[in-house]
Amino acid sequence: MGIRLVDLPAEIQDAVQRTREDVASLHAELTRYGLVVWTAGNVSGRVPGADLLVIKPSGVSYDELRPDTMVVCTLDGVKIDDGTPAGLTPSSDTAAHAYVYRHLPGVGGVTHTHSTYATAWAARGEEIPCVLTMMADEFGGPIPVGPFAVIGDDSIGRGIVETLGESRSPAVLMRNHGPFTIGTDARASVKAAVMCEEVARTVHVSRQLGDPVPIPQDLIDRLYDRYQNVYGQH
Ligand SMILES: [Zn+2]
Repeated sequence: MGIRLVDLPAEIQDAVQRTREDVASLHAELTRYGLVVWTAGNVSGRVPGADLLVIKPSGVSYDELRPDTMVVCTLDGVKIDDGTPAGLTPSSDTAAHAYVYRHLPGVGGVTHTHSTYATAWAARGEEIPCVLTMMADEFGGPIPVGPFAVIGDDSIGRGIVETLGESRSPAVLMRNHGPFTIGTDARASVKAAVMCEEVARTVHVSRQLGDPVPIPQDLIDRLYDRYQNVYGQH
């Protein structure tokens, strides 16, 4: 027997509803910043107080995303009886998102896109060097590259968790695929996706002009600590 949303305690149902509203509206940021085409890309959020996540449905146009069509899944990535039509299935990237939530308890949101510049770096399998103060602030160093992994098992999720475990960056460029970003909530993961594309573009342009100048590690550390503490990003 599957879990039925209507059978869960009222406070959990309220938390699911808030997460659905949050995740649905955050998808508009992906189109606003030009990070996605067609139905590619997805945002998910962990439901506070429950072992559930909310994610974009598969194959639905961005114009048609509403809170009540956001799919509710267990942290094993299995859709619960959430009131959506049976034909509405969770994003094909759900297993990767679920793996991240199971293995990184501090993560409350995950975003995935194929944004052009970040994905161009991923196609070359090259990390984005930390050559901008905003990179030191937001990412605390280079944006790392994760392994090549195909959809269908845990390999994408495992690649994300293992790569980010060795980095301060909330973004990983999965090789030949594109960026996955994490945050304390869904909004923070979307912000990381927007910033990841921005620095991927700027560092690419800088490369066309010559060799970008690296920032010394001690200055990266100072910028990162100041930004993360003063602005309370974590
Ligand atoms: Zn993808």
